[in-house]
Amino acid sequence: MSELRWNPMLEEWVITATHRQDRTFLPPRNFCPLCPTKKGKFPTEIPEDRYEIAVFENKFPSLQRNAPKPAVGSNALYRVAPAQGICEVVVYTARHATTLAAQPVEEIYKLVKVWQDRYRELGARKFIKYVYIFENKGEITGVTLHHPHGQIYAFPFIPPKVKTELSAAKKYFAKNKKCLFCDILKAEKKNKKRMVAENAGFAAFVPFYSRFPYEVNILSKKHKSSLLDFTEKDMKELSLLLKTVLVKYDRLFNFSFPYIMLMHQAPTGGKKYEYTHWHMEFYPPYRTEKKVKYLAGCEAGAGSFINDTLAEEKAAELRKLRVKF
Ligand SMILES: [Zn+2]
Ligand SMILES: [Zn+2]
Ligand SMILES: [Zn+2]
Repeated sequence: MSELRWNPMLEEWVITATHRQDRTFLPPRNFCPLCPTKKGKFPTEIPEDRYEIAVFENKFPSLQRNAPKPAVGSNALYRVAPAQGICEVVVYTARHATTLAAQPVEEIYKLVKVWQDRYRELGARKFIKYVYIFENKGEITGVTLHHPHGQIYAFPFIPPKVKTELSAAKKYFAKNKKCLFCDILKAEKKNKKRMVAENAGFAAFVPFYSRFPYEVNILSKKHKSSLLDFTEKDMKELSLLLKTVLVKYDRLFNFSFPYIMLMHQAPTGGKKYEYTHWHMEFYPPYRTEKKVKYLAGCEAGAGSFINDTLAEEKAAELRKLRVKF
């Protein structure tokens, strides 16, 4: 059973997806559904003996192309809608025991191309309003499969956090006739203290208002609303900067650093969003080598984050880590 249920207090949709309770949870390595299918062995999700990057629809999707009729009726107080959408899995490599950070830059570049392709194709569908690209890395973030992979949710609505960001950017644009994100980037470049790394096309920094100690944002230096505005050169430069950030994360405490990695960009559906600016955000749960930041009462119940660290200090730690690849 799956449907969208409206929360009239927060004015947002909740996706119910009871079929996901049975999804594969941390299977043993020889039963990994994302590995290539080997002759005579158990059939995985990918019926190929080799591949570079594989994309397919999630077997346990939260949103479905042919969404079932909601199990309960809709009324003025409790609105209900079909959970229509598309959920895709993006497998980064055929190799099981590796991570995106360990992938060569050329492979990361191919992934960026795949992201652009999926954003274009999924976003072209009439019932899709927002294409959301993300990765949960590490068991601590709730990942259910170890094989390096990310996900794409093509939503039938604009998700709440994106909506808030869009509305702020729209207001800022109307008031100042400038892009909010371009101004943030300008401020970061001037201040330098929160910068982590940059190249000709992109900059990575710890946001002034970071919620997580090692939170990092990557912004395109030129104003680009979405991946559709990216040139080949942009994609190459993004893959280089992405690799730099990922390698720095792994070097920080010398273990493979868990994170939630996500992309915010223009909603799809044909409208112009000149005030949106493509960017990526990383939320790593670790606050020290051994301590994890949990979302507790204040964060979960009040929506107010407490960050025990200073963005300037955490950025300096990340900035000084030398990376070679
Ligand atoms: Zn695998
Ligand atoms: Zn901008
Ligand atoms: Zn954002």
